[in-house]
Amino acid sequence: MDFRRFLPYTKYFRGTRLALFWALVCAGVYGIASGFGLPFMIQYVFPKVFDFNAPPLDPWVLAGYVLWLPGVFLVRGLAGYLNIYLINLCGVRVLKKIRTEFFAKLQALPVAFFDRHSTGDLLSRATNDTNQLQQTVTLVSNEIFRQPITLLGAIGALIYLSTKHNDVVFLLLFFAIVPITVFPIRIIGGKLLKKARLLQGELGSVTDRMSENLNSRLEIRAFGLEQREIESFRRLMDQLIHAQMKVVKYAEALSPLIEILSAAGVAIAFLYAHLVQIPLETFVALVGALYMSYDPVKRIGRLSNELKKGEGALERIEAILKEPVTITDPENPVPVQRLRGEIHFDNVSFAYGDEPVLRGITTHIPAGTVCALVGPSGAGKSTFARLVPRFYDVVSGAVKIDGIDVRAMRLADLRANIAIVSQEPILFNDTVRNNILVGRPDATAEEVEAAARNAYADDFIRKLPQGYETIVGERGASLSGGQRQRLALARAFLRNAPILILDEATSALDAESEEMVQKALARLVEGKTVLIIAHRFSTIRIASRILVFDAGRIVGEGDHDTLHAGNDVYRRLYDKQR
Ligand code: ATP
Repeated sequence: MDFRRFLPYTKYFRGTRLALFWALVCAGVYGIASGFGLPFMIQYVFPKVFDFNAPPLDPWVLAGYVLWLPGVFLVRGLAGYLNIYLINLCGVRVLKKIRTEFFAKLQALPVAFFDRHSTGDLLSRATNDTNQLQQTVTLVSNEIFRQPITLLGAIGALIYLSTKHNDVVFLLLFFAIVPITVFPIRIIGGKLLKKARLLQGELGSVTDRMSENLNSRLEIRAFGLEQREIESFRRLMDQLIHAQMKVVKYAEALSPLIEILSAAGVAIAFLYAHLVQIPLETFVALVGALYMSYDPVKRIGRLSNELKKGEGALERIEAILKEPVTITDPENPVPVQRLRGEIHFDNVSFAYGDEPVLRGITTHIPAGTVCALVGPSGAGKSTFARLVPRFYDVVSGAVKIDGIDVRAMRLADLRANIAIVSQEPILFNDTVRNNILVGRPDATAEEVEAAARNAYADDFIRKLPQGYETIVGERGASLSGGQRQRLALARAFLRNAPILILDEATSALDAESEEMVQKALARLVEGKTVLIIAHRFSTIRIASRILVFDAGRIVGEGDHDTLHAGNDVYRRLYDKQR
């Protein structure tokens, strides 16, 4: 059992120390009441009550004897209850801290991290694994006191009773059985860690599958994939059950094993008692104490199992918590306020993996230029734009804004100077107003409405059931594509950043929506440095400069007429779309 692995995580108990302290005090009381109180009662109270040759007992004394049992159980029960209550209180607080730390880490991780991890897997780590870890940390921190105290109480009773009767055999029995039980604990624990890892992985796959399925609801119905989905989910559930039963198989084998070993100990005690003629009450008391000392051993064994399960979960959480945050603020950031927006790519190369996606790109975009990025699919247009807000860092070369390397500024300063309107604008399940406020959270109501008017969104917003206070549904489900686009544009108006990145929508809007979006765009780009990732050529009308990408290089720069006349890639693309 390696408790040390969990030591750093006891930090989560900070702030809940008082509850933990009282929980442990209660654990101690519980342990002493169980370990010592019961055998003691058997030894002293039983003979008095069952000695029928003695003169009748004083009613008060008898009442005292009779109440001994409920008294011990009352103390044990109350202490046990309070202990569980308080430890659970600590537990939920611990879970809150672990989950919040995990969540905070997810916010800090660079975009590249999410290319490697699926949402479902991360969700599973954030829920299943943190749950398991909480269970382990609380159970362990509780039992690690409670069981040894019970054990000590019981050994105390054993020693006391043994010396009183000059019988050390019971003690010896106890000390003989305990080391033997360590073997199954070790063997089973080793197996369990492997199975627990497997189980947490399977749980991850199930959540992954679920989240993928829920996110593809339209495609599944449109392509009639329901049955295929159900089948593949069923197969996954089979694997999960298999993994779960493996854990049950090992985890549950331990208690009976230890019980059988302890029963063997008790049987030897029987034989011994018969041979040396130990009186019944002494025998019952000793066996009681013996049992009370095996029980904690059994529970400590289970604790070891729990630790293994927790270790499996911990590994999966640590993998994320220890993931290096590669995109961070520089140590001595260049102070920047509002940038002018002059963008300079200086011999920039970039790769997501091994394959270079941008190769030695050098270009200069003066402040206030509306620049369209065109090129065949996969040429590197989006990647080029992603390097400006530092969603990824360049592999070599530098991206500069107003002559300052983007890596030399604080991330928050850099990103405050950039507004992004993505292909499929993501709206939060909140009111229209709050969705626009994302652009600049401290804006006034008038500013929000002015931004909406600029984005030609004010009219449709006012017609919504609760106007600006209408909830838009998950990802803006209750709005049309064009409406979502215009809310995204309103956000960008409100942000009023000097640099604007527009990932042009690929899905066509109806003519009226399209016209409004185009008008809003024309207004939005005024006076800003704009990068438009152009999938259709209609947008290029508002661009004063065009960069033509092909296979990770810029193969042409200029305006439409020059490029159409002199650039093959451009002409081919343009003519294909007409
Ligand atoms: P499109 O017009 O189809 O959007 P694009 O010109 O914007 O294409 P990019 O999205 O920049 O092209 O992609 C350039 C190359 O990088 C492609 O080969 C693509 O497969 C790869 N790529 C893009 N994003 C990632 C990613 N997150 N992880 C790994 N490879 C990526």
